[in-house]
Amino acid sequence: MIPFLDLKNINQQYREELIASCTRVIDSGWYIGGNELEQFEQNFANYCGVKFAIGVANGLDALILTLRAWKELGKLQDGDEVIVPSNTYIASILAITANNLTPVLVEPDINTYNLDPKKIEAAITPKTKVILPVHLYGQLAAMSEIMRLAKKHNLLVLEDSAQSHGAQIDYKKAGNWGDASGFSFYPGKNLGALGDAGAITTNDAELAQMLKALRNYGSHEKYKNLFVGVNSRLDEIQAAMLDVKLKHLDVEVNHRRTIAKMYLEGIKNSELILPLSDIDASQYDQHVWHLFVIRSKNREELQQYLSENGVQTLIHYPIPPHKQQAYKEWNDLNYPISEKIHDEVMSLPIGPTMSLEDVKKVIQLCNCFKV
Ligand SMILES: *Cc1c(COP(=O)(O)O)cnc(C)c1O
Repeated sequence: MIPFLDLKNINQQYREELIASCTRVIDSGWYIGGNELEQFEQNFANYCGVKFAIGVANGLDALILTLRAWKELGKLQDGDEVIVPSNTYIASILAITANNLTPVLVEPDINTYNLDPKKIEAAITPKTKVILPVHLYGQLAAMSEIMRLAKKHNLLVLEDSAQSHGAQIDYKKAGNWGDASGFSFYPGKNLGALGDAGAITTNDAELAQMLKALRNYGSHEKYKNLFVGVNSRLDEIQAAMLDVKLKHLDVEVNHRRTIAKMYLEGIKNSELILPLSDIDASQYDQHVWHLFVIRSKNREELQQYLSENGVQTLIHYPIPPHKQQAYKEWNDLNYPISEKIHDEVMSLPIGPTMSLEDVKKVIQLCNCFKV
């Protein structure tokens, strides 16, 4: 069986380092809000090229708390509109509605699966206050165009970088384009903890201060609460685990790029649409290949065929947000590009410990697939 992602093998590579770090935390007697968190926040901020990283409990909280912080700072109010891609993972949208803000779904580009800048401007109204681009599957959204539009219309930009640690355009990384960026360190993400964790990156000192209060009961100073905050902290053990894994992230991403290049060069089957099909090859190395997503009109058959031949695949994602029961009020709306994507996408195995032999097997199977 070729697994979709072998988390056990991935973490096994760093077993000794992880155990040493874990032991250090256990022996320190200090488990929340200490040196481990501070060090990881500094190292992750440096990695992204920004001034501040603020650790929180998970990626969803990173997005929720950033929007909440902007409300506390008077930059947003209830009912303001947030532009978000219609094909994103549900978390990006939950963060908006959790703050009594209004999501405005905008269709993605069918080739990149990211927000189509041409469609953003048409969606802007006097109530629009934020663009929330999602760097889906490991590739940055068209950030130069998005930042130009944001400047022109005086909008805030919150990147959802949960799938794109280290992805870049012109050497500027995810997390360093918008006013702020939310990251997830869920175990299966490119930079994954051994449990839940997340962070916000920003160059805005005022926002960073507000986020540090909001994640800790709304308190900058013990027992003094200026805001109605939450408990959303990144604990010392997870910060220590992440600091170990951050050191190896670029090597892992390079292996993902090697696999992606093999798939892109090796898979030749007119039934399958490969990623970046319409895009300049120089962009391959800007992508961090969190997922290698192909499309097929016969996805169910393809998935079954690969499964029968020992290859595990996943669908990211089977149901678009506007068709979810949680958002019943949108169920009758039409987002044809998004619906097409959700009907056709399938993710092939890719990961930092996948063997090149296994990659070749997957390529061969894909090339032999017939309807
Ligand atoms: C994983 C993910 C999140 C949420 O992260 P959690 O840590 O699971 O809360 C948000 N947005 C996107 C695009 C994601 O892939």
